[in-house]
Amino acid sequence: KPTVIIIIGMAGSGKTTLMQRLNSYLYQYQIPKYIINLDPAVNNVPYAVNIDIRDTINYKKVMEQYQLGPNGAIITSLNLFTTQFDQVLNYLEKREKEVKYILIDTPGQIESFTWSASGQIITEALSSTYPTVIAYVIDTPRTLTPTTFMANMLYSCSILYKTRLPFLLVFNKCDICDFRFAQEWLTNWQSFDDALKEQSSYTASFSRSMSLVLDEFYRNLESVGVSAVTGKGMKEFFQGIKKCEKLYYSVFKVEIEKRR
Ligand code: GDP
Ligand code: MG
Repeated sequence: KPTVIIIIGMAGSGKTTLMQRLNSYLYQYQIPKYIINLDPAVNNVPYAVNIDIRDTINYKKVMEQYQLGPNGAIITSLNLFTTQFDQVLNYLEKREKEVKYILIDTPGQIESFTWSASGQIITEALSSTYPTVIAYVIDTPRTLTPTTFMANMLYSCSILYKTRLPFLLVFNKCDICDFRFAQEWLTNWQSFDDALKEQSSYTASFSRSMSLVLDEFYRNLESVGVSAVTGKGMKEFFQGIKKCEKLYYSVFKVEIEKRR
């Protein structure tokens, strides 16, 4: 069965650029893939798609017709699309023998997918049929201070508990800055503590307590440094996905079946 990779991340973290990069990487190695865009508000999709939410949902019209602002219109568009999601599953079923990866791009605003009913329905529909992995994209240059790093990790932790699926942390934009600092902080509590010492007071002591708690969360995480722009780290990305896929079968699948 193909592995589903759901690309999630803050607006501007590089989800769409990463989709483009993964797409051309898989093309280069002739690995068959199926590409889905779930962002109704994107102007330009810079990669070839098999299914595009924009083909059936007109985001601008949704905004006018229901008198919604940008965020409301994204959620309503997703809801409308979700009502036809069984058709998407039918298309996937027809192709599942030949396809190796199903890549899914999500809306720029992260919470419109991770905290919406339709996001949950789509995630559950996919993960009850296919091994499904969340790739959480991080804007590495914007998470260089220990406190922003901590905030980002807390957010990813909340998504892990919301989706209850294997999780790959993707430190993107590694052409701008090295990702080793993050790897160090994830694996060595002491190094994070040292970095905190350079920061002041309240936030530092909060981050210190949190990092002790998150230590357990980190232990179950896969992480990888990539650049969607240069293509650095693509091999490691798919190695990380492979490990997550194994986790899906060994740990998560049983729980998904129990929940149903
Ligand atoms: P999305 O909102 O998560 O889909 O983000 P986009 O893919 O649209 O990217 C947001 C911005 O980040 C764009 O200006 C991209 O060119 C830039 N960007 C994305 N990935 C990288 C990367 O690996 N390196 C650098 N330097 N810029 C990147
Ligand atoms: Mg995007």
